[in-house]
Amino acid sequence: MNVLVINCGSSSVKFALFDGDEQLVTQGKRERLGSDTAQHKETHKEAVAAIFETVAEYQIDAVGHRVVHGGADITQPQQIDQAVLDAIEEHIPDAPMHNPFSKAAIESAQDVFPSVPHVAVFDTAFHARMPRRATTYAIDQDVAERHGIRRFGFHGISHEYAAGIAAEFLERPLNELRLITLHLGNGASACAVEFGRSTETSMGNTPLEGLVMGTRSGDVDAGVLLSLLRSGEFTVDELDDLLNNKSGLLGLSGQGNDLREIQHAAADGDDRARLAINVFAHRARKYIGAYAAAMGGVDAIVFTGGIGENSASMRRRILQRLEFLGCVLDEDRNHDASVHSDQDHALITTPRSRVEAIVVKTNEELMIARETKRVVHATERPTPKTIPIAISARHCHLTEETFATLFGADATPTPMKDLSQPGQYACEEQVTVIGPRNQIERVRLLGPLRKANQVEISRTDEFHLGIDAPVRRSGNVRGSAPVTLKGPEGTVKLTEGLICAHRHIHMHPDDAEAFAVSDGDEVAVAITGGNRDLVLGDVTIRVHENFRLEMHIDTDEANAAELGKNATATLSPVDVDDDAYAVYTELAATAALTRLG
Ligand code: AMP
Repeated sequence: MNVLVINCGSSSVKFALFDGDEQLVTQGKRERLGSDTAQHKETHKEAVAAIFETVAEYQIDAVGHRVVHGGADITQPQQIDQAVLDAIEEHIPDAPMHNPFSKAAIESAQDVFPSVPHVAVFDTAFHARMPRRATTYAIDQDVAERHGIRRFGFHGISHEYAAGIAAEFLERPLNELRLITLHLGNGASACAVEFGRSTETSMGNTPLEGLVMGTRSGDVDAGVLLSLLRSGEFTVDELDDLLNNKSGLLGLSGQGNDLREIQHAAADGDDRARLAINVFAHRARKYIGAYAAAMGGVDAIVFTGGIGENSASMRRRILQRLEFLGCVLDEDRNHDASVHSDQDHALITTPRSRVEAIVVKTNEELMIARETKRVVHATERPTPKTIPIAISARHCHLTEETFATLFGADATPTPMKDLSQPGQYACEEQVTVIGPRNQIERVRLLGPLRKANQVEISRTDEFHLGIDAPVRRSGNVRGSAPVTLKGPEGTVKLTEGLICAHRHIHMHPDDAEAFAVSDGDEVAVAITGGNRDLVLGDVTIRVHENFRLEMHIDTDEANAAELGKNATATLSPVDVDDDAYAVYTELAATAALTRLG
């Protein structure tokens, strides 16, 4: 499969064509693009058209596009459809220098190659599953939610690629390694790659946060921006220009944004050039320390990007005095390190260094081509049927008699909110569930009233209450655990009714047919799309005309998968790549052994 990769930057468009063996067939770059027609600058559109002419002689089987911003919901490369184009459009305000050009390039490419698949590979996707503590700014959360203010991270394609090469070099699986990757180029960012996942990165809501860059400031006290605005010297647009285009190495050195020239000036004794180099290195070193602390350790530090790959002196400055962390630079190796297409990595630490430092030649285009091929192959397989997940918090179902004792003889349940299963609703009424060790207040009543009392709690609740409750299917409460319930008007000691709900999937008969399962079947289910993929065995299928497709799990199970809103599950065998499937199979085997043993 020949894959054409289009990488649209803010002022350049790179392209590369790879054959089925990942060999580069041809590549090129159109630079200094802009809208300045007075200076006859080529526009992005013209550049893209010229690229299509250049590759006209080759067969193109798929096109991969780099897209800077896909937002929080896109965690994977995507085959481009209208929804993907809409997501790119939606994030134009967050990446105004990139997303508009990517979108235009995609649309042009779709016109020129209408019959081949187009895939978007996102810079944000690698970071999309960072933990909430890393994505959240400590500002009023209502404001943050209203304005979509959270940390996204960028350069994900490069960080993921560099981490993969480092793991290959270290001959250890990526999911056993804690890496700090530093993409140092005209744009620069650091990433904590913890066991294969990005768990922290220095760029935030926009690519302005973090390290010192060519012309971007990186971290600046937000208070400074307020004072500059208050001073009246800068309009909002001027401040934007200051921070994005006139800061960083350029602003510090007053020379330009090319580190090579700054290094020459520094060697000639230019004080501002020296300051620029020192601030750049200090900031990067600071982030290494922070990420080692955030991950509780580090196995390797990886340098990539124009500066990371080429500037031995900058790497030395960044790594100096990191011996305490176990990272000991080998001056000769660092000086001689050279990465190019035939040699994509170089080790620059001594043999006794506990933490290795590696230089990796970034290759975003190859990564995009690989991902494009993977997505195209995946979409050729039948699409998995996913199942929406509902997380059941603790709740109770009561009989008329129990309800009357707890809430008064004349009371009736007050419906508050319809539940997803037809006819079911949450009520205003809440009870206190009392066990020998503790009690749990405000346990919600679900309606309508039933023929038997049933209180459903999680394993954690059970421990808290001090009662051993059996795992049961809903409705099967005979011989289950005793429990005391207290309402505003009275208390009832139930001799049975307390259960830990057996996880299950509600299905309409049409769904059961589609999934090829029957009522009462026990299945395994893979939950992906949360923060921690999880496979659950012993899931019961429940089929009824009145049911709507939905998997019900309790809060312990949801927390184990770190599920958010709109999570979905897939019946195993799941739609994952072969490696991941092997992991799932192993996981199931271990679970079986545990049960037997
Ligand atoms: P990138 O954005 O990754 O292409 O990186 C571009 C930047 O890398 C340039 O602006 C230079 O500052 C820097 N760079 C490239 N080669 C060298 C070198 N040999 N020494 C120092 N800096 C370099």
